[in-house]
Amino acid sequence: MPIDATQPYDDANIFAKILRGEIPSKKVYEDDFAFAFHDIAPQAPVHVLVIPKGPYVSWDDFSARGSDAEIAGFVRAVGHVARDHVGPGYRLLANVGGDAGQEVPHLHVHVFAGAPLGPMLAR
Ligand code: 5GP
Repeated sequence: MPIDATQPYDDANIFAKILRGEIPSKKVYEDDFAFAFHDIAPQAPVHVLVIPKGPYVSWDDFSARGSDAEIAGFVRAVGHVARDHVGPGYRLLANVGGDAGQEVPHLHVHVFAGAPLGPMLAR
C-alpha cells in the first residue's frame, strides 16, 4: 500500500528496524549519515537501498527538515555506494508518496545497476 509522504515519521517502519539492528539486512556500506543494504526483492542484478540514519519519511521531508550536514552526508554516501559498489553505469530512484508507489515510510534511494536497465518508466 503506497504511503502518504506527508505523514509523521513512524519509528516502527521496517527500515527503522533495520537501522536499529532489529531486523537483519545485507549491509553494503555505512557511515555517520547513511546505511546501504541489498534490496530484499532485487529488480536488477544490483539493487541497493541507501537510507539516511535520521528519521525522514521521504525526499520531501528530508530536503525540508534535514540539516546541511545530513543532506551533504547522505548525498555523498549515495555517490560512494554508486561509485565503489556498482557499475558501469547505474540508475538512482526515490519514490515519494502514493503516485510513485512508495511503500516504506523512511527515505530510501534505490541504486540499480549490473545490466542495461531499459526505459526510464514502465509504459
Ligand atoms: P519503495 O516502493 O518504497 O520505493 O521501495 C521499498 C523497497 O524496499 C522495495 O524494493 C522492497 O523490496 C524493499 N524492502 C521491503 N522490505 C524490505 C526488507 O525487510 N528488507 C530489505 N532489504 N528490503 C526491503
